[in-house]
Amino acid sequence: MSPGPRYSALKGVQDILPPDICLWQEVESAAGKVFSLYGFQEIRPPIIESTDIFTRSIGETTDIVEKEMYTFPDKAGRSITLRPEGTASVVRAYVEHHLYNLPAPQKFFYSGPMFRYERPQKGRFRQFYQIGVEAFGAADPLMDAEIIAMLTVLLERLGLKGVNVEVNSIGCENCRPAYRKALQDFFSGRLDDLCPDCKRRYEYNPLRILDCKVERCIELRRGAPKVTDFLCDECRSHFDKVLSAITLLNIPYVTNPNMVRGLDYYARTTFEVTSEHLGSQKAVAAGGRYDRLVEEFGGPPTPAIGFAIGMERLAALLKEKEGPVAASPDVYIAPIGEKATTESFLMAERLRAKGLWVEAGYDGASLRSQLRRADRLSAHYVLIIGDDELSSGKVKWKNLKDGSQGEAEMSGLPEFFPSFFAER
Ligand code: ATP
Ligand code: MG
Repeated sequence: MSPGPRYSALKGVQDILPPDICLWQEVESAAGKVFSLYGFQEIRPPIIESTDIFTRSIGETTDIVEKEMYTFPDKAGRSITLRPEGTASVVRAYVEHHLYNLPAPQKFFYSGPMFRYERPQKGRFRQFYQIGVEAFGAADPLMDAEIIAMLTVLLERLGLKGVNVEVNSIGCENCRPAYRKALQDFFSGRLDDLCPDCKRRYEYNPLRILDCKVERCIELRRGAPKVTDFLCDECRSHFDKVLSAITLLNIPYVTNPNMVRGLDYYARTTFEVTSEHLGSQKAVAAGGRYDRLVEEFGGPPTPAIGFAIGMERLAALLKEKEGPVAASPDVYIAPIGEKATTESFLMAERLRAKGLWVEAGYDGASLRSQLRRADRLSAHYVLIIGDDELSSGKVKWKNLKDGSQGEAEMSGLPEFFPSFFAER
């Protein structure tokens, strides 16, 4: 008896194991394919960045910066943060490498782990994965619609049904001050009942109160003024054009004036894709426009928009739908005896060179136990090689999927599995 595990993973992080990983790979591969149709290319920024990149862009009074960042000094005393999201890094890279000199729009996607010190629960982890996209240099509302379309095309291609697209506009620096004032007026009489965080948000960024997750604050914001009633003419017209373009594409959506999103850099369009199947953490993807961020990072004025998909939540939805399909070997070679084991060892290499997934048994295992193993692995074919087969130059094969069996020339085996070769 083993004493049991001496170590366990940290709270709020998880191992993604086979066969679940198959769903993740399916998502990553579909995303790469769909995004490339829209001209998005992969970018791989580092996972650690200097802390101020996030505090400045995401905003000092956001949940992420206030409570959730993994921040620590490195050995030289610099403040380092494990990235809580991808946009800030991509903007940093865009400006640092002068990518604005390339023809606009420049479009990127990324995928990888993000880190937030949150209370672990269903759909909420401390290390979680996002696939995200960012498009720089297009102010046109058609870009907003195109990016929302790209997200829905991906989810559709993955076979997801019953997701909702929620869209909002949170205005720009011209119209937001009036809205901010209206919110402060609204909450001024309710200030004592707001949570301590929202009391601070009231001063610095009252929009954040709309994003608070505390039950009492959610109640208190009922009847609050709606941002869409405060949009300036330009923002109104931008929003209307986004909505009519996604209508043209027959994308069903609802407008949600309370959706301000949890990050400060957004302006104008914000959107979320939600699913009722996810329980309270229902956003599977979220994004918006951030037209000022590139400038704040020292680049030229550059309109930009992006979104990020939460991989754990997407994988949970896909798992509910179909369950992961475990990958299985094409061929299992069961040798009997020492000479046959050597032959099977070489045979496995020859077949792998032809593109087959081959598992070969090791010396000494009984035929029975090898067949059991082939069965448990769900191998497609089993080949049996013993002394008789070695002297006749033929092997016995059995197709475990349909039960057919026969003999084949050992030297001709690489040509014996034409159906697999055609598939790859
Ligand atoms: P939420 O309101 O769920 O906290 P958020 O506004 O913090 O989301 P974003 O920062 O916009 O989320 O991230 C985009 C997506 O990443 C979310 O819609 C969600 O699917 C996923 N996500 C965010 N935080 C987590 C987490 N801690 N664990 C798992 N997935 C997450
Ligand atoms: Mg959050």
